[in-house]
Parts: sequence; structure tokens; C-alpha cells
Amino acid sequence: MAQIIDGKVISAKVRAEVAERAHAFRQKHGRPPGLEVVLVGDDPASQVYVRGKEKAALESGLGGRVQRLPAATSEHELLEVVAALNARDDIDGILVQFPVPSQIRQSRVIRAIDPAKDVDGLNPQNAGALASGEPALVPCTPRGCIRLLKEIGTPLAGARAVVVGRSNLVGKPIAQLLLNENATVTIAHSKTRELAALCRTADVLVAAIGRAKMLGEDFIKPGAVVIDVGMNRDENGKLCGDVDFAAASALASAITPVPGGVGPMTIAMLLENTVMAAEARLLAREER
Ligand code: NDP
Repeated sequence: MAQIIDGKVISAKVRAEVAERAHAFRQKHGRPPGLEVVLVGDDPASQVYVRGKEKAALESGLGGRVQRLPAATSEHELLEVVAALNARDDIDGILVQFPVPSQIRQSRVIRAIDPAKDVDGLNPQNAGALASGEPALVPCTPRGCIRLLKEIGTPLAGARAVVVGRSNLVGKPIAQLLLNENATVTIAHSKTRELAALCRTADVLVAAIGRAKMLGEDFIKPGAVVIDVGMNRDENGKLCGDVDFAAASALASAITPVPGGVGPMTIAMLLENTVMAAEARLLAREER
């Protein structure tokens, strides 16, 4: 039976580290690291996510606020809000909650956020820096996955890693981070042939697909470490991952549950990204 990788416990540790750094930052600079989340419209799931982010930020001693804009906000109006946040000195992290209403182009918003405040890590400048192995703000969920792997002592150098999913938010940055750890990485997607056989070669298997319980026992190498990013509803409406947990946990050496695995890490890493952004901005200023 596999070790269960407890994202709740590990995320609590990250949050405690963040609280310490936020406290030190406040002592030094007279204000907390500041995160502003912008929510356009009233999508119920997004409402829940942003409330969670705001609460977590305040609990860790960050300055956190949600700016709520009406669903009819134009792209121009949203870009003006982003520009104003870029200019504010007390804001270190900006997160526009996606999806945004259809009149707004997500790519425009991503490019408008100052890369130094881009705590979602989606700006092409940060994505490019990550790919070049330079310091970057990296998307929160991928950083959370790597932290989980490290916390349980997974040997990554030379390991064969397969990442299923190639989104800019999850799959690609996870693959980059694993490559930076010297894993031998393959990225799979919907056009990949013989996916099960490929996944069975993986010492580290990351599922970021969005298909309930798609990866069953045929996809798991005995002894593999399995990270399940997926958040889906099963046929009974219950939250589940992309991996068939019951089947996979009989074969894997370690596995993340859903819920309680990668999910709690995402918010913790958002807080950590905000503190890192705050420290980096102030350091850059001191060096000028
Ligand atoms: P996307 O829909 O953007 O990407 C899904 C990826 O999976 C695509 O690359 C797609 O391939 C691939 N894919 C889809 N179907 C198959 C298939 N049958 N075989 C192989 N590959 C397939 O999703 P995201 O990356 O944004 O999210 C992935 C999952 O992670 C979702 O369940 C999401 O809810 C969850 N998530 C969880 C978070 C957390 O905090 N726990 C945070 C973010 C996401 P192709 O490119 O060819 O279409």
C-alpha cells in the first residue's frame, strides 16, 4: 500500500514558513507583503476560490484583498485596474482569477501584469525565465507538486518522469521544474499514442488532465510516485482526481489523494510566491 502524501500537513508547514517571512518583511519594511486578487463577475466556483485565497493571505500575515468587478467589465477597464495595481507600491502580488468573462482576452490580461508581481507565473516573461533556468515567479500548483515530491524525499535526478497534460498553468511548468531537478521528462497529451505503456515507464507520474479516474492500474509502474493534480467530479458528484486512487495506491510507493493532496498546496504556494515577490522587489530597489 502506497504512502499517502498529505498535502494538508505539508501545506500547513509552507504556510507557517510564509507567516515567518511575512512577519520579518513587516518588521523590516513597515508593511506586510501585499496580494490583490481581482475577480470579474460572479462565477460561484471563482467566488469560493478567491475567498479562500483572501482568508489564507490574512491568516499568514499578508495584506490581502479581493477587488470585485462587475461581469460587464470591459477588457480596457480591467487592464486599467491591472495598470493601477502595477503602479501601487504596497501591492507585491496581483492575481486575476480566471476564467474571465468572454469579452476579455485572458492573454491580454496575463501580459499586462507586471512580471515582478505576477504571482500566478503566467506572464510569458516568467514562463521564458523558467524555461531558461533563470529566477522566475512560477505557477503555484506546479511548485506545490515539486514541494510535495521533495518533502517525501523522492529522488528526482535521473528519474524518469511522465507528465500527462501540457497546459501553460500546470503541465508545462511542472515538466520544466522536473527538468530543472535533472529528471528525464516526457510530456504526454491527448494525441500521445500508447499512453498507458508510456506512463508505466514513469518513476514519477504527474496527472494534470481533467478526466476523472482516467489513469488506472495499467498506467502505474510498481513503486512509482504518483502526483494527481486533477480535480474532477465522479459519477456520484464526489471530488476525485485523474488517477484511479484505489487501483494506483496498490501499486505506487507514494500517491497524493484528491482531495487533500495537491489542492491545499496551491494556495500555500500562492502565499509563498507573494512573499518571494515582495522580497525580490524590495531587494531590487535596495540594489539600485
Ligand atoms: P487543461 O484542460 O488546460 O489541460 C488538460 C491537458 O490534459 C491538456 O494538455 C490535454 O491535452 C490533456 N488531455 C486531455 N485529455 C487527455 C487524454 N484523454 N489523454 C491524454 N491527455 C489528455 O487543464 P489544466 O492543466 O488547467 O488542469 C488539469 C487538471 O488539474 C484539471 O482537473 C484541473 O481542475 C486541475 N487543477 C487543479 C489544481 C489544484 O490546485 N489542485 C490547479 C489547477 C488545475 P491537449 O493539450 O492535447 O488538449
